[in-house]
Amino acid sequence: MSALPPCPKCHSEYTYEDGAMLVCPECAHEWSATATEAAEETARVYRDAVGNILQDGDTVTVIKDLKLKGGGGTVKVGTKVKNIRLVDSDHDIDCKIDGFGQMGLKTEFVKKVV
Ligand SMILES: [Zn+2]
Repeated sequence: MSALPPCPKCHSEYTYEDGAMLVCPECAHEWSATATEAAEETARVYRDAVGNILQDGDTVTVIKDLKLKGGGGTVKVGTKVKNIRLVDSDHDIDCKIDGFGQMGLKTEFVKKVV
């Protein structure tokens, strides 16, 4: 993430960082970059392997064979997973997969079905 956000006042793209502040050289507006980051922290955005935003209830497909712990078999690439639930845990998605039951997935191993 090297691209800085445009100026919220005049929409200039020539903004630069000055310590914790972002500065616009065109209208001299200064604002805090950390405030925006903190806001994103509270409302976590979940993205799939290609950057689509995921939401509760979405359907995704698995993009990589996922071997289950304890010899539980393998969830094959292309497996469709319906009605996902996003969680803030060691995994990102709670879901139920036919033949496997309740399990957790990581967002980077799925792709949203749109
Ligand atoms: Zn500006």
